[in-house]
Amino acid sequence: MEKVILLRFGEIYLKGKNRFSFEKQLLDNIKAALKGFKFSLNRMHGRYLIENISDEDVFEISERVRKVFGLHSYSIALKLPTDLDLLKKECLAFLPESGSFRFTVNRADKKYPLNSQQIAMELGGSALTAAPHLKVDLFSPDKEIFVDVREEGYTFIFADKVLCVGGMPVGCSGKGIVLLSGGIDSPVATYRMAKRGMKMMGVHFHSFPYTSPMAKQKVVDLAKILASYQGGFDLFVVSFTEIQRQIHEKCPEEYMITIMRRIMMRIAERLAKENGCGSITTGESLAQVASQTQESILVTNETVEDLPVFRPLIGMDKEEIIATAREIGTFDKSIEPYEDCCTVFLPKYPVIKPKPELIRKAEAALDVEGLIQEALAGVELIKL
Ligand code: ATP
Ligand code: MG
Repeated sequence: MEKVILLRFGEIYLKGKNRFSFEKQLLDNIKAALKGFKFSLNRMHGRYLIENISDEDVFEISERVRKVFGLHSYSIALKLPTDLDLLKKECLAFLPESGSFRFTVNRADKKYPLNSQQIAMELGGSALTAAPHLKVDLFSPDKEIFVDVREEGYTFIFADKVLCVGGMPVGCSGKGIVLLSGGIDSPVATYRMAKRGMKMMGVHFHSFPYTSPMAKQKVVDLAKILASYQGGFDLFVVSFTEIQRQIHEKCPEEYMITIMRRIMMRIAERLAKENGCGSITTGESLAQVASQTQESILVTNETVEDLPVFRPLIGMDKEEIIATAREIGTFDKSIEPYEDCCTVFLPKYPVIKPKPELIRKAEAALDVEGLIQEALAGVELIKL
């Protein structure tokens, strides 16, 4: 008798002919998430089964698989030889403390002498003898206990289905780069894209010495959390200090943020192309701040030559974004009070509806290409 973990697919079961490649990616991702543990992973009748694990590892392994995109749910199950007396005994551990239960039996082994209903009745009867204060309720039980009698001579018993994060296996949608700040939004945007199967890498701009090393460390810590959902995370850290100094010195104050965004986008696009990424993602949400209006987005986007720019949070309220940040475990880190580079030389009244021609004209005071080259020459890659 041993504890095993049953895994169920998420959305990929909807896939047609190419389903095989999605499944292969999912299997690779599960194996990568469980690196370092002793286990075996097998496909079994439309599900996966993690076996040969030691009891102490069950909790940590199930927590890891919960975070693998592409899985719908898991159950910790008991695997035991198909022996009615043994089943009756082991089922007791799955009964609720009080209230009602039902056994739902699936008999794949058609040679077994009892049919599924008979097995359920046998198990239910012996459970009621052992726990006479409980009731059987076939329609809305407090606890449903599943018994799966397999052809190979063993049976699985499990009760709770724990939801995993869902989505598509990371890697199925290629690679993308996200502009990752230390705020609440961009980590959530990253998660959303990874959830749709995109392996994300990040670029963070810092303004040392105006911003502290702690501000950078915070982003590294956020990237580490994001790494746990997608099997690693490459973070490019780019110094933005000189760029900001020059914008501050040479451009009208109210255009500062718009021009910063434009240069961030250009740098992100270069890094994306050098690293095989097919898109740029940001954490912008419509109307959240001055740089997140249609007009601002138009002026920012025009600097990106030929990649799509994704803004998965564009239609989300701050409250909804915060709820996701809490769920995925980035919120507490995001609210640590270290300043972002965008707060350095912050204009009092940033332009809300920038006019492209005016911004281009203001930007012409800068050697944009030279600044980009210089910033890229000093880029640091942190692998998490
Ligand atoms: P966040 O919570 O993600 O910081 P925000 O509400 O603070 O977002 P802005 O400061 O306007 O919004 O930033 C909008 C987007 O620009 C961010 O979501 C992020 O994608 C990108 N961004 C902002 N600052 C940085 C930075 N220092 N490095 C990398 N990307 C950044
Ligand atoms: Mg920010």
